[in-house]
Amino acid sequence: DMENLTKFPSPLVELLDGFKASKAMFVACKLKVFDLLKGKAILKTKDVADHINASVCGTERLLDSCTALELLKKTKQGYSNTELADKYLVSDSENSLHGYIMHANDHVWPLFTHLESAVREGTNQNHRAFEKKAQDLFQDSYYHSMETKLRFMNAMDSVIKLTGRDVATAFDLSKFRSACDLGGCTGALAQVLIQEYPNLKVTVFDLPNVIENVSCFQPTGQDTSRITFTSGDFFKDNIPEADLYILSRVLHDWPDDKIDALLSKISYRCKPGCALLVAEIVLDEEKIDPLRAVLQSLSMTEGKQRSNSEYKQLLEKYGFTQVQTKITGNFLDAILGFKKTAHTVN
Ligand code: SAM
Repeated sequence: DMENLTKFPSPLVELLDGFKASKAMFVACKLKVFDLLKGKAILKTKDVADHINASVCGTERLLDSCTALELLKKTKQGYSNTELADKYLVSDSENSLHGYIMHANDHVWPLFTHLESAVREGTNQNHRAFEKKAQDLFQDSYYHSMETKLRFMNAMDSVIKLTGRDVATAFDLSKFRSACDLGGCTGALAQVLIQEYPNLKVTVFDLPNVIENVSCFQPTGQDTSRITFTSGDFFKDNIPEADLYILSRVLHDWPDDKIDALLSKISYRCKPGCALLVAEIVLDEEKIDPLRAVLQSLSMTEGKQRSNSEYKQLLEKYGFTQVQTKITGNFLDAILGFKKTAHTVN
């Protein structure tokens, strides 16, 4: 009827404002508003403004926006964190997503401001967003300074802390004695694996300038004696021997020729009966769900997101069989394949 036809369409209102909401949360995180209101703290606008060194009028609008977004609560006494903010947005909380949010704010946001060019040109917009052409996504982009490198490592670490257990337990891995997490970054997944599998030793393999910085990410008071860090380039160097190879959020970054080099190497090293575990977001066959994977592909790296059948085909192409996928219901899914008896690649 007429009334419905003339209403402002609410799904579009959400889309029109979605970017403002994201940025409000990013900025509140960056200014450490949630850290200030950690626990049971209740503060008035003026106190928050003083602490974060910002204007009172700007702070008030930010705090009210965060309240509307249900990240803060507002009473006569002042503002306080919601449970959600206390758990995930405080920078030093156990389940903090602060690192991932800072990566979204400082890296992904600038890239997405150039989405139009990204679509026109079909390329990553590093050169526009950061005035630097990225030949290599890691060395030239994520790792171009110590600050950006630690930010990226922190982002990866925070996601694995929340999803690593579901990846590690998606399949029964108890028969494996050694695993090698290729591109294993801070060792966050290795940490979960050794907790879940008491007989497993894990080698974390990553670039030298990542391995140099892993110490500040290690949990205190936990036995890490079954984790070894090894540095190298998985395209150029030999990879360590292992019963189980792991590629968590590695395949989606690279073009086909690089994937070919990497999977050929793993397949060659992997003995019959040994396996490859992949952690990624698995797309549905139409490639429109889940939304977070579809949207991530807009950052236009040379790699791509894949569906279940595409991962299965890819692993089979490099000599893995019995390929199984587990949709975990968490941020990352898991795919496992076992090496066939012959080294042949079909
Ligand atoms: N596996 C971690 C996770 O799921 O959180 C990190 C994923 S991150 C997207 C990709 C990782 O691959 C980074 O830690 C990066 O340093 C590593 N990497 C990139 N190029 C590499 C190379 N040529 N050799 C070894 N590691 C590499």
